[in-house]
Formats: sequence, structure tokens, C-alpha cells
Amino acid sequence: MRFAKVWQRLLGVEGTVVERVVFDEEAGAIVASVCPRKGATRRCGMCGRRCSWWDRGEGRRRWRALDLGAVMAFLEADAPRVRCPEHGVVVVAFPWARHRARHTRTFEDQCAWLAAHCSRSAVEELMRIAWRTVGAIVTRVVADAHARHDPLAGLVRIGIDEVSYKRGHRYLIVIVDHDSGRLVWAKAGRDKKTLQVFFDTLGTERCAAITEVSSDGAEWIGDVVADRCPNATRVMDAFHVVGWATDALDEVRREVWNDARRTLGNQVLADRLKRCRYALWKNPEHLTKRQRGKLAWVAYTNARLYRAYLLKEELRLAIRLKGDDGIRLLAHWLNWASHCRIPAFVELARKIRRHRQAIEDALRSGTSNALIESTNTKIRVLTRVAFGFRSPEALIAMAMLAVGGCCPELPGRPLHPEFAAA
Ligand SMILES: [Zn+2]
Repeated sequence: MRFAKVWQRLLGVEGTVVERVVFDEEAGAIVASVCPRKGATRRCGMCGRRCSWWDRGEGRRRWRALDLGAVMAFLEADAPRVRCPEHGVVVVAFPWARHRARHTRTFEDQCAWLAAHCSRSAVEELMRIAWRTVGAIVTRVVADAHARHDPLAGLVRIGIDEVSYKRGHRYLIVIVDHDSGRLVWAKAGRDKKTLQVFFDTLGTERCAAITEVSSDGAEWIGDVVADRCPNATRVMDAFHVVGWATDALDEVRREVWNDARRTLGNQVLADRLKRCRYALWKNPEHLTKRQRGKLAWVAYTNARLYRAYLLKEELRLAIRLKGDDGIRLLAHWLNWASHCRIPAFVELARKIRRHRQAIEDALRSGTSNALIESTNTKIRVLTRVAFGFRSPEALIAMAMLAVGGCCPELPGRPLHPEFAAA
């Protein structure tokens, strides 16, 4: 293997000319001067079209590459501008980097992979970059993945959900493909207009192909779906129904706790009740031995709270069962809840009656509730991870990496198709 070839491999720039490599004492880094091969010069940075030369731009430019051993590495090259008939005067395309990036493609891919698999501090330390830069990188990587594969292709059953991502009630609308379990679209907002952007992007033909849309029962979502998806059944997102029951249970727990504190003046009892929150909230199959003990304590000391717990669990079971069994159990639950004399659950029974048709449709549908639940949970966890990103776009890109199937392979395994072809 020739020496230049070794450098191409090391720097991850197969198909690019490596002119020379020096150690820059000042930067404490290896700097490789490179230039695109003949056929790859003077292309528009936006569309890749061959264009006429415009000017030298800002002269030489550096891109951070993956470290070589423990030493930082940079690529350096001229960055002239061309005039594209469509995009005007733009900096040329560089085969080793995405447009507007200051890091190489392999550096960005590795960063994105790490962001999807490791903690924020691990990514920052290992790659020696700020979290905000990670946000910008992830956004570019995802845009690139979407340009190669349209996430909206072939949608049949979708879920529409609202996720709060910041205090002060800021929301994202997220669209999930129920067949793949993937996040396919998201945008900041929580109104008809934002949702209409999704259906505009999808287009009339693909809207007509959608057969099932699940949501949390919000009227404004229902209105837009009825208007745009003529062939779709609207079903209730089961994840939310269980969420309502959990909220009602929490309300009862707070009431019982307040009673113990104020009316009975029993601080010991109140404290003990307070510590039962997780035992009541978690799915019973995931309880630890200690938490099972707490639940037992609730059962023999507080009949009302335990009844509320059983109501939550029976509703969850109906949702889990699905089909005719689920529908029968839901009917039983409605009857029980309506007469349980616990205001939070009487109210919940009313709410569920209002949405009964859509819930039963969800129980009849073949969509996996477990899949919906896990995607929803992952997106909610991500909103916390992505704190510190400046824009909701970076958060969305982060979610696309983790649950949208956009995470790139680690560099070098396998070879990037562009380089493999060259
Ligand atoms: Zn162009």
C-alpha cells in the first residue's frame, strides 16, 4: 500500500487526494492538506451539480477529523465558491464533509452514534466538543439520512402524540409509524396548523393510504385527521388511557396523604404513604420485593387507595388484553369505576365513556400497544437528555437518531458506500 493510501485510510478520506501531512506544533494536532479528486471539484455544496467558478471564498479552511491515536487531527483545503444556477453563490461541496460542517463526515457519524448510545458527558469528553455542537452535528446527520431514505414512505398506521419538551409548556407534535415503531416526523407546536404541515408534506395520495390514526383524543387532532385522512379509523392511543388512570390514582394518593396529615395529624402515616408512590405507580410485574411489601401495606391499611390501585390495574389489563376479552373487561371496569365512590375514578369513567368508541377501536386494532408505549417512553426520556440544545430541531434530530432509525454506522464498519464505490 502506498504511503498516501495509508493516510487516506487513516483519515477516512478514500477518494480524496492527500497532498501532505504535518504536525502543527501550535495547534498540537496533525494537519493534512487535501483536495477533492478531479471529478469532484467545483460542485455546488447544496446539490452537487457541477458549476462555474466564482471566487476563492474565505481561502483555506480546516475540518476536525477523528483523532489519530490520542492526537487531534484536521483536514485543510481551499474552500472556493461556485455559482449554482439554483442555489446562487455557494461554497463548493467537499467529499469528506457535509455542507456547512466544520467536522468531517466520519467525525460527525461517530459523534451521532455516540450521542445515541452514551451519556452527554461521555460524548463531550471523548470527542472534545460542546453539547451544542453535538446538536448541530446530529441535525446534519439526520437530514442526510432523510435525504437518502424518505421516512414518510409507505405509512399505513400512524400515531399522533404531543410531547412537552420544556417547562413553560412547549410542545412537539410527533408522528410514529405503528408498523415499524419508528418516529417518522416531529415539529415544535401543538395546534392544527403544525399538524397540517405534516399532512401537507405527506401529500393527498399518501394521506389516502393511511388506514388508522391513534391519538390521545384531543379534538383538534381529530378534526385535522377527519379532514385529511378520508380512509382512516381514528383510535385512542392506549398509552394515554393508562396514563389517565395513573393520574387518577395519584390524585387519590394525594388526597389520602393530605387526610393523614391534616385531619388525622398523623405525620408518620403520611410519610409512609408518600413513599408508596412508586409501588403504586409501577407495573406490578416490575415491582421489587420491597415495593411489593409497600403495596401489601397499602392493601391492609388503606382500602380506598388500594381500590384505586386495583382500578388502575384492571384498566391496564383491559388495554393489554385487547380484542374481545379487552372490550369485555373494559365494560366491567366502566361499571365498577362508575360506582366506586372515588371521585377521581368516577370522573375517569365519564371521560372513558366519552371516548369509548375510539378505545374499543384501539382494542380491536392489530397495533401493538407495547410498541407504542416503548416509543412514547423513549421520546419522553430523550426530551430530558436533549436539555441544553438550543433548538427543538436538535432535540427532534436526537429523537430521530434514537427512535427514528437514523443512527449511522460507526465509521469504517462497513466502508461508507460513497468511498466503497470510489
Ligand atoms: Zn446547487
